[in-house]
Amino acid sequence: MINFICPVCGEELAEQERLYKCEKGHCYDKSKFGYVNLLQSQKSSAKRHGDDRVMVRARRDFLSGGYYGFLLDFLCEITDKYLQNGAAVLDAGCGECYYSAGLKSFLAENGKNAFFAGVDISKDALEFASKRKCNIPFAVASLFDLPFADESFDAVLNIFSPEAYDEFHRVLKKGGFLIRVIPLEKHLFDLKAAIYDKPYLNEVPSAEIADFKFVKSSQIKAQIRLDSNEAVQNLFKMTPYYYKTGKDDQQKINGLEQFSTQAEFEIRIYKKD
Ligand SMILES: [Zn+2]
Repeated sequence: MINFICPVCGEELAEQERLYKCEKGHCYDKSKFGYVNLLQSQKSSAKRHGDDRVMVRARRDFLSGGYYGFLLDFLCEITDKYLQNGAAVLDAGCGECYYSAGLKSFLAENGKNAFFAGVDISKDALEFASKRKCNIPFAVASLFDLPFADESFDAVLNIFSPEAYDEFHRVLKKGGFLIRVIPLEKHLFDLKAAIYDKPYLNEVPSAEIADFKFVKSSQIKAQIRLDSNEAVQNLFKMTPYYYKTGKDDQQKINGLEQFSTQAEFEIRIYKKD
């Protein structure tokens, strides 16, 4: 069981049918989809509140096509060793919750009952996450101001989401794991080559993170075959490239019905000592 804390006073929030409430009486209504908004807008300096609906919908449709199923399977296989029965897991920047919903069912099939919570700054993403009915509580919040008490989690998942390491460190228990998934240099290079005259490689961040002990990294690479223009468009729209690309370049993939591109990821495990 994981409790959100009140963003105003820091007390634990008790869940009721339609709302969350702290002992001091601060109340947060659940949305009609089930998530709760704990974002204190006066505290947030972010102008753009996360991924927009076009991106979120494209990602939901692409992921439900199973194209990244191999990454989910790999994530399950790797993280299984680090997650005990009863583990409390935070999906920090959960998006539509494709990965933690999958990981939660994988663990359950293997006799492990883990408690997940998901946080994202995008309401649109959490609307789709809530529709998965995966029994995970979701809150709209900033990763840089997580609505949890210190040392609440055995693991934090940081899957293609911003690196709020100080907060991840704070909410992890001593000995807890940070599980980070990042794209590698040539991830989606063929897709970029179809759009840009000079496609560039992705920058891969250094493996070191202050205050965390690096445990292990594992890579997985696959060629994904997209069998419709809709799938190609969805893949493009779920990437940050889409927003950095002008209309003329965006149109270059309009006719692509069959397309194959490499997908390359690394999973990095860190421990809080
Ligand atoms: Zn309160």
